[in-house]
Amino acid sequence: MRRRRSYRPRGVSHGGRGTECSLAIRATTLCSGLRRVLDLLMEKVIIVGSGCAGLTAAIYAARANLSPLVLEGRQPGGQLSTTTLVENYPGFPDGIDGPQLILNMHQQAEKFGARFSYSEVTDFEPRNSHVRIKADDEWLETQALIIASGASARYLGLENEEKLIGHGLTSCATCDGAFYKNVPVAVIGGGDSAAEESLFLTRFASHVYLIHRRDKLRASKIMADRVFANKKIEPIWNTVVTRYVPDEKGEMRAVRVRNVKTNEERELPVACVFVAIGHDPNTKAFAGKLDADPEGYLIAKNLAESKHPGVFIAGDVADRVYKQAVTAAGSGCAAAMDAEKYLSELESNLPALVSC
Ligand code: NAP
Repeated sequence: MRRRRSYRPRGVSHGGRGTECSLAIRATTLCSGLRRVLDLLMEKVIIVGSGCAGLTAAIYAARANLSPLVLEGRQPGGQLSTTTLVENYPGFPDGIDGPQLILNMHQQAEKFGARFSYSEVTDFEPRNSHVRIKADDEWLETQALIIASGASARYLGLENEEKLIGHGLTSCATCDGAFYKNVPVAVIGGGDSAAEESLFLTRFASHVYLIHRRDKLRASKIMADRVFANKKIEPIWNTVVTRYVPDEKGEMRAVRVRNVKTNEERELPVACVFVAIGHDPNTKAFAGKLDADPEGYLIAKNLAESKHPGVFIAGDVADRVYKQAVTAAGSGCAAAMDAEKYLSELESNLPALVSC
């Protein structure tokens, strides 16, 4: 086990002279006792994140008897827990609700021995032989770490934004859509998320403005066709939101919008704005300590490896291209299998390192 090498007394080699050897035996015995205590405190595998990638990693690591500890983070269940019907996850010909899919994965991981904690990771220290990770205010130690911290919804960065979140401004139609019955709402964005949220909101809202900065949706054709076929959805092309307009109680009343072609400004009365303009990877705790691209996505080599042995990467935190539930699940599987291989290599080096 590579970690134990540091406990072998310096200058003592295998087959050394009697006194040196007995000293070494005592030191090694002491060290291996200490090591056993430390091992009891040290996790084998910690998984950061409980979205599709983290939970798949948890299923694989738990089935390998590694009893992984999953740190669920600020958004347990990740993005799938805020989505509606998932129609493209293999094995569900009629689709499955995102939160249900996540619940199933959670139960599956738990069944094999995965443990869960709601704590959020705020710092990280890769060491030569193990990894330290700060979850809330507590430092934890682990032999292997799988980072599957996903990505968080982006907002526009306009005035009053923070104050309005929860008061007519949100990034989650599934969570908040039902509060806005028979009132007009707006969705911002042109991707699959914006299309999906707009369609979902037609169940409740009287009218859905789909505000997009270009004249064409980025969403897949099947989603775009559904949007165009729905009479309740009105696309507002080539348009950006310039200001949120709250009422006297601080609730959203309208948005100011500007046509980027004509510069014409107007106000759209809406009770809620659903922002669906993509996500940023959740990498704050790892910034500067792992390789990342200019947008902050972690860079994994050979699918799940980081530059530190024992630290693996999975899911949307490293995926700026596909961002699908099934690709996240695949990389979670790869990360757990790599972690398992890494741990068994550490374990197989153990006997040689503790002998005199
Ligand atoms: P996305 O595909 O990156 O789309 C983001 C949209 O927001 C784009 O239309 C973009 O405009 C717009 N946008 C970005 N920044 C903006 C800003 N500052 N102001 C105004 N508009 C802005 O993100 P997504 O829709 O969240 O989808 C992410 C991934 O998940 C995609 O791969 C998607 O296929 C997948 N997904 C799939 C499903 C499904 O299959 N049911 C559902 C949801 C998501 P531009 O077009 O001009 O760049």
